[in-house]
Amino acid sequence: MTYHIDENGYYGEFGGSYIPEILYKTVEDLKSQYRKIIESEHFQQEYHSMLRDYVGRPSPLYHARRLSEKYGCKLYLKREDLNHTGAHKINNAIGQILLAKRMGKTRIIAETGAGQHGVATATVCALMNMPCRVYMGALDVERQHVNVERMRMLGAEVYPVQSGNKTLKDATNEAIRDWCCHPSDTFYIIGSTVGPHPYPDIVARLQSVISAEIKEQLMDKEGRNYPDYLIACVGGGSNAAGTIYHYLDDERVRLVLGEAGGLGTDSSQTAASMQVGSTGILHGSKIRVMQTEDGQIVEPYSISAGLDYPGTGPIHCNLHAKGRATVLSINDSEALQAAFELTRLEGIIPALESSHALAILPKMKFKADDVVVLTVSGRGDKDLDTYLNHKNDINYASI
Ligand SMILES: *Cc1c(COP(=O)(O)O)cnc(C)c1O
Repeated sequence: MTYHIDENGYYGEFGGSYIPEILYKTVEDLKSQYRKIIESEHFQQEYHSMLRDYVGRPSPLYHARRLSEKYGCKLYLKREDLNHTGAHKINNAIGQILLAKRMGKTRIIAETGAGQHGVATATVCALMNMPCRVYMGALDVERQHVNVERMRMLGAEVYPVQSGNKTLKDATNEAIRDWCCHPSDTFYIIGSTVGPHPYPDIVARLQSVISAEIKEQLMDKEGRNYPDYLIACVGGGSNAAGTIYHYLDDERVRLVLGEAGGLGTDSSQTAASMQVGSTGILHGSKIRVMQTEDGQIVEPYSISAGLDYPGTGPIHCNLHAKGRATVLSINDSEALQAAFELTRLEGIIPALESSHALAILPKMKFKADDVVVLTVSGRGDKDLDTYLNHKNDINYASI
């Protein structure tokens, strides 16, 4: 029994590769080559040297003393917020562009919602001198103006998508359409553990550097290489997949994941797709997805743009279905409170997405000697306007 991928590209009943006929050869090529390339010494050397000298890895594992005291455990924060470009997404973008180059691809496409994956992709395209087109819903182009300007400054072409609700799902459809038209020269860099097999496995492997480092760092600090709990937020699932990768089959380690509840799972304003979704096909993969009875995708809602995805990757859907991971729904107000708490207690302003992991802490009952590792997936600079708009909703007395 394993929670890793099986030989057909499935995690339990989830995953697989549901793609249009025209992409069959492209995806087959990727399937047959990705492991050989990623596991090669040459790739590993270049990838890890970039992670060290360009991204700034290893990211620190920081013992948060004041938060530990408050929650009655020994809490470590895995500081992905300190990476170049401000989040974990760069780990994956660097790995995929190195993969694209080795497969002889000459053009990069991506889709983005909040713009964070678009920025990471535009960054590595500048670095590697590759032309880059980023598909983005026209509404998101308006909402995420700073990231759009960043991508353009980095030399990427941002393509506003006017169809549907003009958000992430529509941008994804458009990116897939582009890929269908240019299957031989174009590499599609997907930003999370979603999409057709082998993407979830590619992204999980590239992000697994997070848990590889946690193992070493815990050995160093605690004299044992595993924690009692791992906590992370889940949008598509990549920072969580990276955090838990090397512990998936280690049942000593309890996994707790926070998905975006929005205004609550009993409201229509939510993105908690593992809890309110049903099994369906999205983005080429069989996952839990928010949909109507006749299979129309329901527009998700969360205060956090990066968690605002109508599904969750197959790895996490399986962990949830099998009971290996506890999945909690975190509402907007809980995430906001957690963001201010981390800021005031530890001097770290987290991304709104990461605040959904932090908001799990008050829902847990720890023992004093429990070792807890929580991944801070990104920094909060991009969310400052939202934080300021809600500063009067915070209960400062309880911090
Ligand atoms: C994109 C993003 C997420 C959500 O994506 P996952 O693939 O679930 O990790 C979480 N945190 C930050 C800071 C992000 O930018």
